[in-house]
Amino acid sequence: MKITRIDTAFYRFPAHRKIVDAIQEFTHMEVITATIHTNDGLTGMGIGYTIGRGGKAIKVFLDEEFVPLVLGEDPSNIERIWEEMWWGPHWVGRGGIASLAMCPIDIALWDLKAKRAGLPLYKLLGGFRDRMPVYDTDSGWLNHSQDEIIREAAERVEQGYTGVKIKVGKDNRSEDVARLRAVRKAVGPDIKIMTDANLRWTATEAIARARMFEEFDLFWLEEPIEADDVLGHEKLRRSTSIPIALGESLYNRHVFKEYLARDAASIVQPDVGRVGGITEWMRIANMAHGFNVNVSPHFLMELHIHTTCAIPNALWVEHIPFLNRFVVEPLRIEDGHAYPPETPGHGLAFDPERSQPHLIETNSFPG
Ligand code: MG
Repeated sequence: MKITRIDTAFYRFPAHRKIVDAIQEFTHMEVITATIHTNDGLTGMGIGYTIGRGGKAIKVFLDEEFVPLVLGEDPSNIERIWEEMWWGPHWVGRGGIASLAMCPIDIALWDLKAKRAGLPLYKLLGGFRDRMPVYDTDSGWLNHSQDEIIREAAERVEQGYTGVKIKVGKDNRSEDVARLRAVRKAVGPDIKIMTDANLRWTATEAIARARMFEEFDLFWLEEPIEADDVLGHEKLRRSTSIPIALGESLYNRHVFKEYLARDAASIVQPDVGRVGGITEWMRIANMAHGFNVNVSPHFLMELHIHTTCAIPNALWVEHIPFLNRFVVEPLRIEDGHAYPPETPGHGLAFDPERSQPHLIETNSFPG
């Protein structure tokens, strides 16, 4: 079996609403796809993404560095191909653009493998359960007024969601506190409230805010401090009873290992679109299991439904319906649970008609 052709594409999808967090506005999702063709006629599709900047560089890196490396390879050798992509451009790699550009290839290889096996991806990866609880992030953006977050959080609860995420990181501590108090009052004591500061604070500020948030029984406080500051998170962990979640900004298992070994993270949130795909995501999830720590991945619910259903130590899938308008079949969510497609592969596909207006560039590389 051989990879005979790879098609790549670059899209810029506009956000479905105004989305602001503590450090940025998320106006577009840039999606970089790779479709791998083989000599037996099967194909696999994978994606990488950004939240609006750098997508073009990822597309160039994918086309110039990884496509030539992978063409002609046996697509079953996923571990070997992953190592080749890791070590090939290592001088400019180990994170950033290079890591993001690995994702479309690695995810496409897993899609292909699952299709060849005739299995939905979650079963190929392990098959632990066939649905996942979902929490909603789309109701709690930082630009929403207090009235809006209360109304939308209550709507989600009505729809069956058992968790909502509220962004924090307002300039004044008291404003964060007022919003959380209002949401807790609106959703009642049984709904899980997650909070997310998107890297905004120093450890000192995070410790001060966490102390003020303690009374709201938060399920977690996410990315309170810059992602590389392991010591800062360690200090924070020792000073608060609120679980600390992080990982969406981390690139590989080595950094996750440091967080876990230092007990600086309570819940880890790897993203298949950042850590070089599903191969590294599974390594991180399995390592976390060794530390008896749960995984609650960041974003990309259409793919993380498979990785979370595959493992025993997954907590939630994050609901952000960013891609719903552009895909053939939006992820099925009912009564607060998401269900993986049961067709072979991951089942994520862009609708040609609805995605076409946002297509910036496409290339085809024959072997
Ligand atoms: Mg986050």
